Amino acid sequence: MVIHLNKSVGKEQAEELGRKYESICFNDGTRYVLVTTSKVKEADATLKAAAEATFVTDTDIQLAGKQYMNDTRSIDFGVVSIGGANNNTLVITGPCSVESEEQIEQASALCLELGVKVLRAGAYKPRTSPYTFQGLGLEGLKLLDKMRTKHGLKIITEVRDSTHVDEVIEYADIIQVGAKAMYDQGILRKCGKSNKPILIKRGFGSTLQEFVQSAEFVLSSGNPNVMLCERGIRTFETKTRFTLDLCGVAWLKQYTNLPVILDPSHAIGYAYGVADLSRACIAMGIDGLLIETHPNPKVAKSDAEQQLNFEQFRALYKSMGAVASAVGRKIV
Ligand code: PEP
Ligand code: MN
Repeated sequence: MVIHLNKSVGKEQAEELGRKYESICFNDGTRYVLVTTSKVKEADATLKAAAEATFVTDTDIQLAGKQYMNDTRSIDFGVVSIGGANNNTLVITGPCSVESEEQIEQASALCLELGVKVLRAGAYKPRTSPYTFQGLGLEGLKLLDKMRTKHGLKIITEVRDSTHVDEVIEYADIIQVGAKAMYDQGILRKCGKSNKPILIKRGFGSTLQEFVQSAEFVLSSGNPNVMLCERGIRTFETKTRFTLDLCGVAWLKQYTNLPVILDPSHAIGYAYGVADLSRACIAMGIDGLLIETHPNPKVAKSDAEQQLNFEQFRALYKSMGAVASAVGRKIV
């Protein structure tokens, strides 16, 4: 159960109630909020007296659920926002990894040319093998920071593990929690202490319940700015890298209040299918798309096969508006 305490309830009293009802207690900027396990279905007299509103939830998808908040949360990136009352579909693009200043300058130039406002690129890469390119680390973050200052782009980059979570939170405008880090509660809780937007990617072996519950760790630590990213799950199929779970996306839209971003690049794993998948995703009425592009995918240091070259991305970008407007949305 989620309990909105009366605005007159101060920190000390809220924390005391939190302890008494074995619940998480945080301030949402307007009031103190308690969250008990979802097994609690009724407030007793003491809680009722202190509460302004209570929300009963079926499962531990609580703060992220429609039973708590019916509208999709609005996430503001400064230059543009998604969710809430608008019907924006945000396009995010850039290479899998920051590889050099020249490469990330080229990626920035593509964004500026098309009017894409958010540049993506990993500095700390969660590679499957320790022997492949692991990312430029702090040097990569500094290059992204340079692109932000020089070109006014917003930057999204990923946290791989706890060793650099503070650094990424400091440098990024949007913090990406990668598929392999989705279960890392240390990272999630730290992201919950920031107020920057957090994009959580679905672990490729995670159920929707587990996926959304990872968002609950961030939300219940006090950060309301959480987005979910479907990036493909592992199935029996081996011809494609993963399987993009569009049924899951429909479920997320139906039952959660979090904006949903889709990543067709990691899902299929091959550039040939990214444009078709992107348009299919837009047609589902989603809040954003994350697409990998590289000035020369053949020599990319990570995810070479799935990155679009700039010509391919330009053509895809041009085709997006018509699909978006067919479903009442706008590409931003
Ligand atoms: C990425 O976005 O480059 C990435 C590594 O994604 P994922 O965590 O979904 O594998
Ligand atoms: Mn990648």
